[in-house]
Amino acid sequence: QRLNNNFQFVDVGRQDPKKKSISTRKKQFVEIYEPFKQEQVTDQAHRCLACGNPYCEWKCPVHNYIPNWLKLASEGNILEAVELSHQTNTLPEVCGRVCPQDRLCEGSCTLNAGFGAVTIGNVEKYITDTAFAMGWKPDMSKVVPTGKRVAIIGAGPAGLGAADILVRNGVTPVVFDKYPEIGGLLTFGIPEFKLEKSVMVNRRKVFEGMGVEFRLSTEVGKDIEFQTILDEFDAVFLGMGTYNYMKGGFPGEDLPGVHDALDFLISNVNRNLGFEKSAEDFISMKGKQVVVLGGGDTAMDCNRTSVRQGATRVTCAYRRDEANMPGSKREVTNAREEGVKFLFNRQPVAIIGDDKVQGVKVVTTELGEPDEKGRRRPQVVEGSEEILPADAVLIAFGFRPSPAPWFKEFGIELNDWQGVVAPADQEFKHQTTNPKVFAGGDMVRGSDLVVTAIYEGRQAAEGILDYLGV
Ligand code: FAD
Ligand code: SF4
Repeated sequence: QRLNNNFQFVDVGRQDPKKKSISTRKKQFVEIYEPFKQEQVTDQAHRCLACGNPYCEWKCPVHNYIPNWLKLASEGNILEAVELSHQTNTLPEVCGRVCPQDRLCEGSCTLNAGFGAVTIGNVEKYITDTAFAMGWKPDMSKVVPTGKRVAIIGAGPAGLGAADILVRNGVTPVVFDKYPEIGGLLTFGIPEFKLEKSVMVNRRKVFEGMGVEFRLSTEVGKDIEFQTILDEFDAVFLGMGTYNYMKGGFPGEDLPGVHDALDFLISNVNRNLGFEKSAEDFISMKGKQVVVLGGGDTAMDCNRTSVRQGATRVTCAYRRDEANMPGSKREVTNAREEGVKFLFNRQPVAIIGDDKVQGVKVVTTELGEPDEKGRRRPQVVEGSEEILPADAVLIAFGFRPSPAPWFKEFGIELNDWQGVVAPADQEFKHQTTNPKVFAGGDMVRGSDLVVTAIYEGRQAAEGILDYLGV
């Protein structure tokens, strides 16, 4: 009866999965959402109107066949749904967890006009998690080996997206990463309360079963020369991310107690995963008044990690207003629920303290004319200086490209903001200025999203297949 109701969206409202209790969330590094049950998936997925020309598919960066797998999931047909979702996405269980759906698929759902979008992300996650629990594995039985081998540098979402397409087309990918586990920022960046690390460990096993080879704890340029890789492989894909921290350029940034966001997050992951080399590497916020500077996903992750480590107070200062924050709205809500205090329209001008940080001097801003991206520029209000007391400051202003010193020697050119030049619109998609080398993800587009990195890795792999003539 449920399945025959075309007006399900009127009778059944949008329902997100339940969250764990606040007391658990404030202490534990575990995902905060309880998994959906099949009955909830049936109810929620069946709300989809199956619009003839679905905006959600168009807005999803990998162009998932969303209404089709929502229908299959609503019928409990998980194995068909998971096959379909893997036709467009390499890591659907990850995207379902970490995509900012409010500005991608769900943001463009027709039901947003008054009824509440379909819970697309959570159904995507459910399909993959359930299929894995049922023992599903990608079917590689029809793949014909080509004998070609491609090196992939970086086991982040871009590198994994490329590996997925290559191995399904009979090309053996060998993935090098300097970290001891795959995932890039999915493992050594995004905290467990958004994405538990077992998800990537499981994915590594799935990839290995498909024929992808990983050479972890291997830094290219240090543990193995790029020339050796060029000599040994038929082509190379670079998916090395962006890792140069943006600085505020104000006094006091080098004081003890001031940390770059990613250093803090990585030290926390290393401790939780047992990868910590020395106890001194751990950056603890226990018992501290923490000020986080920034308004993106990285800032939200710092806020919420500080809460879980036992900070006495966590304040997040951002120079624009809430509507102009770049981070996912869902994560801002989660941070607020966990006790983070937000100060909007505050711009830091100095970090103060004698031999260690004691506070952050901020000025109030109001929004002026739009900049070249259409976001209104913050302007300082005269005489508005105030000091936010702090024992620790986490700087989360974003990242700039971090090109390897050896790129030049191999003819891999950079653009004027130091991103690798590897456009999509050329004979071989995402080829760099060295014909044998392709690139994608954050190192080409600047720091962006997991799903855009996956898409670019997959597209670059198509470019590589064309280049290899397979
Ligand atoms: P990365 O994920 O950075 O992977 C690059 C890999 O290359 C790394 O594993 C690195 O070790 C390896 N590497 C680099 N140089 C070498 C070398 N010389 N030799 C060997 N290996 C090398 N996006 C979302 O969509 N949702 C979120 O909620 C979200 N939260 C985020 C939170 C934080 C804290 C951060 C920092 C980012 C977040 N992002 C989020 C952005 C997202 O993680 C990135 O856009 C995405 O991971 C980029 O993928 P990538 O494959 O290009 O690079
Ligand atoms: Fe939405 Fe991201 Fe899944 Fe696309 S990949 S359907 S944007 S959650």
